[in-house]
Amino acid sequence: MKRKTKQTLLALTLIVGGVALFVLSASLHQKMNEPPAPTHPPQQAASAAPVLTPAPSPSPEPTPEPAPLIVIDPGHQAQGDSTPEPIGPGASEMKARVTDGTQGVVTGIPEYELNLTVSLMLRDELLSRGYRVVLTRETNEVSLSNAERAAIANALQADAFVRIHANADEDPSVRGVMTICITPQNPYNSALYPSCRSLADALLQSLGEAVGCEEGRRTLWETDTMSGLNYSLVPACIVEMGYMSNPEEDLLLADDAYRHQIVLGLADGLDAWLAGQSESTTQGRP
Ligand SMILES: [Zn+2]
Repeated sequence: MKRKTKQTLLALTLIVGGVALFVLSASLHQKMNEPPAPTHPPQQAASAAPVLTPAPSPSPEPTPEPAPLIVIDPGHQAQGDSTPEPIGPGASEMKARVTDGTQGVVTGIPEYELNLTVSLMLRDELLSRGYRVVLTRETNEVSLSNAERAAIANALQADAFVRIHANADEDPSVRGVMTICITPQNPYNSALYPSCRSLADALLQSLGEAVGCEEGRRTLWETDTMSGLNYSLVPACIVEMGYMSNPEEDLLLADDAYRHQIVLGLADGLDAWLAGQSESTTQGRP
């Protein structure tokens, strides 16, 4: 090789080497200014995703059931309304939208007032037991027909529609507790008869025990003459807490401690009835 050629090659080598060094150095410089690489490369992050969103387990936790919803209807209102309404859906037979109710023979307390007071106490007791509760009315100054009251329970798909009333009889010696439900032949909602009947049974027994009412004075009346029961699409029952036409019972119904016993009896009855309902549901499952 000629000397000149050697020198040219050396020069070329130096140039190429220099360029290579420059490129390498530039590349290193760029790397040092890059933000730190993520600890988890994207592939790892993707494979880590199931940790954040657990795969469905073979036996998933059941969704908790919402608390039972009870619609309480404090019977009557300050002003009755004799305007007729059909006694049941599509019925030709008519009945007053809502009657005046009775009043205490000794105390003079109007039934609508007693019904509301006890209903508000029952609401508080049920709320403290974890129920959801809706009242059809919270004041006496309303205009609500019996059909309209049932419509509230229907719209909310209540677990039970409990209507609070007090009784009256021409004979002042008549006293005791009563519950009222539809008959098995009800032309509007007879499919609900078993649950209405068991609700009426449970409330009658529990209320009777709570207020110390002897068995002979506990009455269960099946009838299809109650508009509010006929329009109901959920288990429904009327509770007659006692006779305001009986002087002794009228005084008891005006007593706060006695009212509290009524409330505990009704709440215990609902507890028992619902326990029985869920038992029969479980038995129906494979
Ligand atoms: Zn009444």
